[in-house]
Amino acid sequence: MTDKPSNFLATIIEDDLASGKHKSIHTRFPPEPNGYLHIGHAKSICVNFGLAKQFGGSCNLRFDDTNPEKEEQQYINSIQEDVRWLGFEWQGEPKYASDYFQQLYDWALLLIENGDAYVCELTPEQMREYRGTLTEPGKNSPYRQRRVAENLDLFQRMKSGEFADGSMVLRAKIDMASPNINMRDPILYRIRKKTHHQTGDQWCIYPSYDYTHGQSDALEGITHSICTLEFEDHKPLYEWLLSKLPVPCQPKQYEFARLNVNYTVTSKRKLKKLVDEGVVNGWDDPRMPTIAGMRRRGVPAVALRTFAEMVGTSRAGGVVDLGMLEYAIREELNQNAPRAMAVLRPLEVVISNRPDDWQEQLSVSNHPQRPELGERKVAISQRLYIDQNDFNTDNSLSRKKFKRLVPGDYVRLRGGYIIKAESFTQDANGQVSQIVASLVEGSLGTDVEGVKPRGVIHWVCANSCIDAEIRLYDRLFNHETPDKGGDDFLQHVNPSSLQLVSTAKLEASLAQAAPETVFQFEREGYFVADRYLHQSDKPLFNMTIGLRDVWQSKA
Ligand code: ATP
Ligand code: MG
Repeated sequence: MTDKPSNFLATIIEDDLASGKHKSIHTRFPPEPNGYLHIGHAKSICVNFGLAKQFGGSCNLRFDDTNPEKEEQQYINSIQEDVRWLGFEWQGEPKYASDYFQQLYDWALLLIENGDAYVCELTPEQMREYRGTLTEPGKNSPYRQRRVAENLDLFQRMKSGEFADGSMVLRAKIDMASPNINMRDPILYRIRKKTHHQTGDQWCIYPSYDYTHGQSDALEGITHSICTLEFEDHKPLYEWLLSKLPVPCQPKQYEFARLNVNYTVTSKRKLKKLVDEGVVNGWDDPRMPTIAGMRRRGVPAVALRTFAEMVGTSRAGGVVDLGMLEYAIREELNQNAPRAMAVLRPLEVVISNRPDDWQEQLSVSNHPQRPELGERKVAISQRLYIDQNDFNTDNSLSRKKFKRLVPGDYVRLRGGYIIKAESFTQDANGQVSQIVASLVEGSLGTDVEGVKPRGVIHWVCANSCIDAEIRLYDRLFNHETPDKGGDDFLQHVNPSSLQLVSTAKLEASLAQAAPETVFQFEREGYFVADRYLHQSDKPLFNMTIGLRDVWQSKA
C-alpha cells in the first residue's frame, strides 16, 4: 500500500478489508461512449483505478453503452487511449454493458414473472403527468395491473420489433407514492430501432441506465461502485433491483462530489457543441479540457494525477480554481522539462568583432538544477536573433527596471558570451531592424572584470536556427462560470484563446524533438512538439503554459 492521503472512500475500503467483508476490492470506471473524456472523468479515473491500485485490487473499464443514438466507436477508442495515457490499466478486456443485454433481458422476464415489472403504454406526456412532483405523489398507471402473461407477451413482442419506438416501455412496479421520484415505477426498457455499435441490429429494445448499471456491477463482481453525487437518489433503486434479482454478488454504491473547475465546462454535451460548431479544432484541440486536448497541449499525465490528488475526494462539492491545475503542471514541468531556446519575435544582432564565417559550438546545460540531464551543443555565429522585447532604444532605463539590452550596455547571452550593444538601425516605421553588438572577449562562462551585464537573455544562432510555427494558447473561456447561464456559454469564449506565431526561430536541436516532448523555452514558457503535426523539417510547438501565473496578476 502506498502512503496516499486518505479520503473517505479509502477509509471505507480499509474497514471492509480489515473486517473481512471483502478479501480484495474491485472497482470500475463506467463511461458512456458519447464523447471524449474530460478533466472530471480524469478525476473519476484516478479515484477508481487509484483505489484499486492502492489496495491491490482491480478496476474494470466498462462502456456504459445503452444509448446507441449518441454513441460511437471513435469515442470507445479515445476513451481507452486516454485511460492508458493517464497511466492506468484495466483488468482483462474492456467490458461493455451491451455484453449483458441477454442476461438483462432474461432478468427482466423474471421481474415480470414475479410481478415486479409491467409494460406501460402511457405517452411520455402522460407519464410525466402521472409521475407527480417532489411535493405530490404520483398516480398509478392504468397499465399497472396487467396480468403477468400479458406483460410477458407484450415484452417479448417489444423485443421482436412489433411495436413502434416510444409506443410502450417496461417499468418496474415499485411505488408511485414514494418520496423518491426514482422509485415511482422507473423505466427499465425502451423501444429504439437503432443499430448499436456493438450489437448491431440484434436488439431494438434497450435497457435504461438504472436497470443496467447495478446488474452489470454485480455480474462483474464489483465490490465498491463509486459514482458522483447525482446518483445518490438512484441508490434505493440500485439496491431494490439487486434485491429482486438472482445476482451473483451485492455491490455497494458510494458517491463523491463531481469535480468542477472554474473557467471550464465539463459536460460532454457542451464540449461536443464546441467541436460541432467549430469553436475549437476538434475534441483534442489543445484548449479543450478533454484528456486528449490536455495531452496535445503538453500537460503531463502525472500533473493530472497530482491535481486529482490535490483536489481531494469528498462529498462536499465546490469549484476548484483552474490555477491549481496550472500549478501542478508548472511544478512538474519545471522539474522535468529540458530547457531550450526559441525566439518568438526575432531581432537580428550582428557581432562586429567576429568575421562573418565565425562559428563556435557552445555546450549548454539542459537543466540548470539537474546536471544529470546533460548538456547539448548550441551553435553561435556572427549573426544572432534575440527577442524584440529584449531590446530597448532608451538607455536611460534603469538597470533595475530593464534587465535586458539597451544601447551602450551589456547583457549575457544564456549559455554564451556577454555582448554590448554598439548601435542599431530602424526601419521606416521606427521599428528596430538590426543591432550591431560587440562580444566581450573571455566572457564565455565567466565574469569579466569591470563588465556588469544587465541580465541574461535567450537567443538563437541565425545561421543554424530553424523556422517554426508556434501556437500560443490562453484560457478558452474568459468567464469564471461559463455555463452558469445555461446554453449561452459560447458567448464567454475567449476570442484570443489561440494566437499563431509564424516568425519563431528555434535552436537547431529542436528539429529532432520527439512529438509530445515538452521543453521549457527559456524565459518564454513550456512548449510541446505537436503530437501530430511536428516534423523535423516543419516544426510545430504548442504552448503548454507560461512560466508565471499571469491570471493571478490580471485579477
Ligand atoms: P458528462 O456530464 O460530461 O456528460 P457523464 O457523467 O454523463 O459526464 P459518464 O460517461 O457517464 O459521463 O461518466 C463516467 C464516470 O465519470 C461516471 O462515474 C461519472 O460519475 C464520472 N464523472 C463524470 N464527470 C465527472 C466529474 N466532473 N467529476 C468526477 N467524476 C465525473
Ligand atoms: Mg452519465
